Amino acid sequence: MPYRPKTHLQRQREQRPQRGREGRLSAARRGYGWRWRKLRMMVLRRDPFCKWPGCHDPSTDADHIIPKRDGGDDSFDNLQGLCAMHHSQKTRRGE
Ligand SMILES: [Zn+2]
Repeated sequence: MPYRPKTHLQRQREQRPQRGREGRLSAARRGYGWRWRKLRMMVLRRDPFCKWPGCHDPSTDADHIIPKRDGGDDSFDNLQGLCAMHHSQKTRRGE
């Protein structure tokens, strides 16, 4: 990584880490930026409950219907709301 001097804003952000509503450190650490967070919020608003058949838990995660490695993208139509349990279950099977 080439050294780049930090901007004033970047330094300010590091001193006061912004926490998301979940209380976790920013999703940017996992490779997702504000664009993803906004999209995820839109998906959860459209799918307030888990899309897993038979599950009626509130959805907390936006899941890729067609996994990215199978050519799926981050479009609204390729996302569905899942509860945390089913999302990790699906992810473990290979999202
Ligand atoms: Zn579920």
